[in-house]
Amino acid sequence: MAIYDITRTVSPGTPVWPGDTTYCAEHILRLADGHLVNLTTLTFSPHTGTHVDAYYHYEQNGAHPAAMPLDAYLGPARVLTVARQDGPLTPEDFPPGSLEGIERLLIHSPASELDEDVWPAEFPYLSIELIERLAAQGARLVGLDSPSVDAFDSTELTCHHALSRYKMVNIELLRLCGVPDGDYELIALPLKLDETCGSPVRAILRTL
Ligand SMILES: [Zn+2]
Repeated sequence: MAIYDITRTVSPGTPVWPGDTTYCAEHILRLADGHLVNLTTLTFSPHTGTHVDAYYHYEQNGAHPAAMPLDAYLGPARVLTVARQDGPLTPEDFPPGSLEGIERLLIHSPASELDEDVWPAEFPYLSIELIERLAAQGARLVGLDSPSVDAFDSTELTCHHALSRYKMVNIELLRLCGVPDGDYELIALPLKLDETCGSPVRAILRTL
C-alpha cells in the first residue's frame, strides 16, 4: 500500500486569496532563550493551503467545521486529470465514462504543477452541470487544486451554494502532482473547529 500526500505545505510564504490573512507562527517561548519548551501561536486563515469550506463560509446558518459530515471526507475517491487551465469544468472535460459511479472526485488540473508559493492567476472551477451530474449519482465530495469552486470574480458563489444544496462538500487547493489518475481511498478530515468558516486538512490518498 502506498500513500500519496496531496496536501500543500503551510508556511509563512504560502499564498492566500487576495486580502486574506497570511500564515504566521509566532514564538511565545523559545528553548534557545532558556525556556522549558518552544511555544508558538498560530495566526492564519482556515483557507490557507489545502482546506475544506464549512457551509458557514457562505451561509449564515451553515455548519461550522465541527459539524460538517465526516463520512464525506473519508472513502473511495477517483483522481482524474483535466487539461483545462481556467473556466468552468463540465462533464465534457473528463474522458467518456470516467465519471461513472464516482463518490468523491478529485480534479487534477494544471494548477497542481505550479510551485507551492505561486498563486494561480487563472484556474478551473466547477459548473452547475458537473455538480448536478455528480449529485445525481450520490457523490459526496469534490476536491480541486484550485483556490475556489467558483470563478475568482464570482459574485453569487453559485457552485458553493449548489454543493451545500446537494449535501456535498469540497476541498480546495489540493496538490495532485505526481498522482496517477485512478481509484484510491481518500482521508481528509477537517479539524473539529467551532465558530469558523473552514478548516485546514491533511489530505492523503491510499492505494487500494
Ligand atoms: Zn475555501
